[in-house]
Formats: sequence, structure tokens, C-alpha cells
Amino acid sequence: MKLSLAHFCLIAFLVLEAINSATIYYLHQSSLPHSKQVQSADQSGAQRILAPAISGLAANMRATVARIAQSPQTINSLKSGSERERLAQVGNIHTLFPDARIQRTLPNGKAGGNAFTQPLSVVYADMPQGSGSNPALAIAEPVMDMENPAILGFVVISKGSAELRSMFESLQLQDAYAELQQANSNGPYNVLMQRGDARLKTSAFQELTDLQGTAWRLVVWRAPAKPVTSPVQTHLAAWALSSLFLALGMAGLYLALRKAVKNDIDSLLLFFSDIRHSRLRKAYTFQLKDFEQNFELMYRLGKLMLGKNKQVNESASIDHLSQVNNRRSFDIKQKELFKTLAEGWTHSLLIIDIDNFKQVNDTFGHDAGDALIVQFGKALKEQLRSSDFIARLGGDEFCVIFPNTPLKKAEELAGRLRQNLPEELELTRGVMHQLRWSGGLSEYKKNDETENMALSRADSALLEAKRAGRDQTRMAA
Ligand code: GH3
Ligand code: MG
Repeated sequence: MKLSLAHFCLIAFLVLEAINSATIYYLHQSSLPHSKQVQSADQSGAQRILAPAISGLAANMRATVARIAQSPQTINSLKSGSERERLAQVGNIHTLFPDARIQRTLPNGKAGGNAFTQPLSVVYADMPQGSGSNPALAIAEPVMDMENPAILGFVVISKGSAELRSMFESLQLQDAYAELQQANSNGPYNVLMQRGDARLKTSAFQELTDLQGTAWRLVVWRAPAKPVTSPVQTHLAAWALSSLFLALGMAGLYLALRKAVKNDIDSLLLFFSDIRHSRLRKAYTFQLKDFEQNFELMYRLGKLMLGKNKQVNESASIDHLSQVNNRRSFDIKQKELFKTLAEGWTHSLLIIDIDNFKQVNDTFGHDAGDALIVQFGKALKEQLRSSDFIARLGGDEFCVIFPNTPLKKAEELAGRLRQNLPEELELTRGVMHQLRWSGGLSEYKKNDETENMALSRADSALLEAKRAGRDQTRMAA
């Protein structure tokens, strides 16, 4: 399967997105058990610490008050009816229990101002009953006459509220409101103490703990779970945001890569096109280092190749002796020009044959003949325009094509050439040769069947010139 750059980027995005999702899922999962643990530890704090402490305090007081109530001294002090004896017994127990007192039962069944209808009560020692602001913990035990069963009075032990309050204050409370309540025989619970933000009392998150051995209970209201974003929402948002950044980053990378790759491929195409046209620019722009490094080598090879090609082409088109174009390139040039005739261009040609060349060979040797060919070619190049196309067709025969030149103008150029070419040439050292040549002129015609027909007309004109005694130029009819 072939993949495009877009496919590659898409696959890379999907892989990164999978890693991103897995990471966020892992973070989400690992955050869940931790929050549960904190919650359960917090909830159990009130029951674990405060309830046993208050229950233990009450149990100790109850045991103490029962022992005092059942002692014969206490029973006798009340049974005698003597106030002196009661006060004496109160004095005795005060040495051991400063908070205890013994009270006689009044005719209405009450002791002092308080009715001990429950095994455990709260007596408001400092303030009027019912204020609820500063309660004292009081435990009363009836003193019974065993011989004649009747309640003689009560032993009461009360603890100041300070100890109870410090216990209540020690209760760990965070985002919660707590109350210490006492069961009321004729109505709802009395609130003995309270802590925290009372506004939370409206919340439904209520924990009730009965304090063993007492008529009290502990009630805690907790703030509902904060309606802030849940871990799921937070993690979903994090996932969506990171995915968005990932997608944007990948899209940016894709566009940048595509631009760089397109630029570099265009440069490569330009390079190959230039090579085909046998040329090279000084520099080609590349954006990717990878392309550029490999291109350096290609560029060097291209330069080498073009250098060689130039040599090969030149050697294939130049006549090795006269150093003008050879017959092969003459044919190519003719074909090129012949095609342009249809567009209205006019071209002419002059065929040249050295007069009595054979004599040079025969008299001074073949090398001298060669030297004449070399010097004649050189002289032609010197006298003609660079736009004129000079070729050696073979032996001592040369041809000049005058591009974009009508026959009349070519005749003028041929006359000028005859004037300007040197009178004599030095073939070898000291051997001078009087240069004479004959020429035939013709014009390429668009009605000609082949491009060679102009050459053949020029050939006929040359023949005429030879026949007419040489050293002259004739024009084709
Ligand atoms: P004309 O005036 O009629 O042209 O007489 P010519 O003596 O020049 O005769 P022609 O042009 O027919 O002679 C061409 C001779 O050139 C024939 C051949 O031996 C000789 N030749 C051909 N190629 C070369 C060459 O490369 N080097 C030398 N030295 N001679 C060549
Ligand atoms: Mg000749």
C-alpha cells in the first residue's frame, strides 16, 4: 500500500492520540481510589474518637455514684432524718469526690430543684435550665431503704461543662457541623453543644451516633460534595484540549512538510530538466537538509556529465582537420533551417571548392594539402560573421550557410569574402600557396522537396564556375 504524506501524518496523529488517551485514562483511574479513602477516614472520625470518650466518662461516673448510694453510711445518714448526719456524710464523700452531693427526697418526689427522671441528666448548674449554653453533666442514683423499700434521697455527681466541651472541641470537623444532643422525655432533642457552620444543618448528609450509656447522641452534618468539576470532567477536558493541540500540531507539521517536500521536488525536477537541456544553474533551493545533502552529489555528477557531453558533442560535430562544422552537423543545421522556411524565413548557402587542390598534394605532399585545409578553415572563420554557419563537406569542399539572408545579400557577402580572404597561405615553412577557390550560390526554397535541393543547385553553380575557368562565384538559376 502506498502512503501519502497526509496518511503518514494521520497515522502519527492516531498513534500519539492513543498514547495521550491512555495516559489521561491512567491518571484518571489512579486519582479515584485516593479520594474515596480520604472520605471514609473523615466520616468515621466522630464515632471513633468522641463517642467512646464521652461514653467512658459517663460509665466511670455511674460506677462511682452507685458505690456511694449503696454504702450503709449514706443510707443511714438519710434514714435517720438528721440534717447534721446528711451533712456529715456529704463532708465525708467530698474528701474523695468533690463533685458529689447527697440530697434528700422532697415530699413532691424531687431532690432540690431537679427531677432525676432519667438515669443520666444534664443539670444546668450556672444558668437557668433550658438555656443550653453551659450544661453540666450530672448523674443521679437513688438511695434506697432496703428494709422498708422507699427512695430516701439521691446521690448526684456532676461534672463541669469544661471537660465535656474540651472533648467536643477535639472532634475533627472539616466542612461539617456537629451537635451534641440529649433525648428529651417531652419533646425533641435538646442541643447541648454545637460546632461548625450551622448553615450545613440543612444538608441531607447527616451522621447519627448514640453515645452508649448516656441519653445523648452526636449528630454531624457534612457539606455535600463540592459541585466543582468532577475528576471525569477535568480529565475529559484535559483529554479534549491535549487532543486539539495534538491535531493542530500535526496539521501544522503536515503543511510545513508538504511545502518543503514540494519545493525540493520542484528543485529536483528543474535540475533534471536543465540537465536534459545541457545546462546547469549556479544554485537550486532546498528546504530539507536530507534532500540538499544528496543533491550535492547529484549536482557534482551533473556538472561532470555536462562537461563530458559538451566535449563529446563538440567532437561529434566538428571536423577534426579544419575545425569547422562537419558534414553531420551541416545536415542537422540544414534540416533546422529548412523547417523555418514555412514561417517566411530566407536562407542562402555558398559552396566553396579549392582550385587545383590536387596539385598541392602532388607537389608538396599530403601534409601540405592538410595544412591548406586547416588554414583555409581558419581563414573562413576569421572572415565570416559568427552567425554564419561554416562546414567542411569533404576533401577540399566547404560550405557556408547564411541564415536569414536572401540570395542577393549572400552574393554580396560572398564577394566580400573573396576580397578579404588572404591571397596566399603558408602551407609549411617557406612554402607559400596562392589561394584560389570557386563558389556556387543558391537559396533555400520552401517549395523544395528536400533540404538538399538548394545544395545541389549550388553544386551546379560551382560546376559552372569551375568550367568558366575557376577563381569565381556563380549563382544558381
Ligand atoms: P578542381 O580545381 O577542379 O577542384 O581540381 P582539384 O585538383 O581541386 O580537384 P578535386 O577538388 O576534385 O580534388 C580533391 C582532391 O582532394 C582529391 C583528394 O585526393 C584530395 N583530398 C581529399 N581529402 C583530402 C584530405 O583530407 N587531405 C588531403 N591532403 N587531400 C585530400
Ligand atoms: Mg578542388
